[in-house]
Amino acid sequence: MARIVQKYGGTSVGDVDRIKNVAGRIKAMRDAGHELVVVVSARAGVTNELIARAKQVCPLPSDRELDQLLAIGEQETIALTAMALHGIGVEAVSYTGAQAGIFTDKAHTKAKIKTINPKPLLEDLKSGKVIIVAGFQGIDDEGQITTLGRGGSDLTAIALAAAIQADKCEIYTDVDGVYTADPRVVKEAQKLSEISYDEMLELASLGSKVMQTRSVEFAAKYNVVFEVRSSFNTNPGTIVKQEVAYMEKVVVRGVAVDKDQAKVVVSNVLDKPGTAARVFRVLAEANINVDMIVQNVGRGGVANLTFTVPLSEKDKAVKALGPALQEVGGEAAFDEKIAKLSVVGVGMKTHSGVAATLFEALAKTGANLELISTSEIKISVVIAKDKADAAARAVHAAFQLEKLG
Ligand code: ASP
Ligand code: MG
Repeated sequence: MARIVQKYGGTSVGDVDRIKNVAGRIKAMRDAGHELVVVVSARAGVTNELIARAKQVCPLPSDRELDQLLAIGEQETIALTAMALHGIGVEAVSYTGAQAGIFTDKAHTKAKIKTINPKPLLEDLKSGKVIIVAGFQGIDDEGQITTLGRGGSDLTAIALAAAIQADKCEIYTDVDGVYTADPRVVKEAQKLSEISYDEMLELASLGSKVMQTRSVEFAAKYNVVFEVRSSFNTNPGTIVKQEVAYMEKVVVRGVAVDKDQAKVVVSNVLDKPGTAARVFRVLAEANINVDMIVQNVGRGGVANLTFTVPLSEKDKAVKALGPALQEVGGEAAFDEKIAKLSVVGVGMKTHSGVAATLFEALAKTGANLELISTSEIKISVVIAKDKADAAARAVHAAFQLEKLG
């Protein structure tokens, strides 16, 4: 008997038939004698729909009210999943985030989990019930409903697995695992049987939308080994775990493309100490995740600052930058027609020539490099959005990723 945390994403519980399919899978595991805590997302599309509706009544809705609204998506699916289990004779009980003892800070719409009190949940689990927990939500110490950022059900599952010392954590989604590239774009893409936390983290944050970034960080911190696999078949998935020596033999493990970024060019700001600090302080205060910062050499007392922000935060960035630019001069321009392409692999720590191979492959597709940034295990470039798919295919081929997996 094992204690297992499973998470089913939005497409896996996308309609009543799919919820019944999930219930059937849960029953099979329960019948095999396992203890099960199951985290579910909202039905696919529901969170987006709710956000769109919020914007119809108010262009910049309050984050507290957004959380009140968004939490209902998961509340629907937990109840329906529990009922579907009852319908096939399995004892089950649904828990909201608050009921599951998931306590967070007060950062509405991107709250961090502070503690989990799993006691009530564990009591129900010991009595033989399957526990269905609403992903993506928690409660702060004043009783306010919070949400954990888009894709936050993954975090709920990983954090619960750590809190209840689960033997296994399985993340069920609509793909078979983590691939060397997006298989819808690169038909030669291969499923990886395992991958390190760091690689997964880079891939997740780089727009291979398999999992929420923060959930992978959390798993790495608490050493939660998890498997990403499909809820539509029984194929083995991808195991995500601590890096081991042999993983370095592969130089590049994946190519990721993120089309949900906007480039911001702040030009003609005063070239003096404190300018960048001012610009990025206002963005930080607006809780905007800035990436790929480049500053050019100042000429004539002014400089340009270029960086990327998530597309969804562009409007917030426009608003936040306004007053700061009054102080430091300059004007901001935004470009949404960009994509960030990255290659990732722990083997880059010990191999050279990765940048040259990448840039040559990109040059052949005619993609112009607008920004470049590197880390120990990743190289990212910003290119035109309409060149991104062809570029991903060329880069995948250049690193011979079809031979992995
Ligand atoms: N329903 C939330 C979202 O769409 C959380 C999740 O699916 O993990 O972001
Ligand atoms: Mg999701």
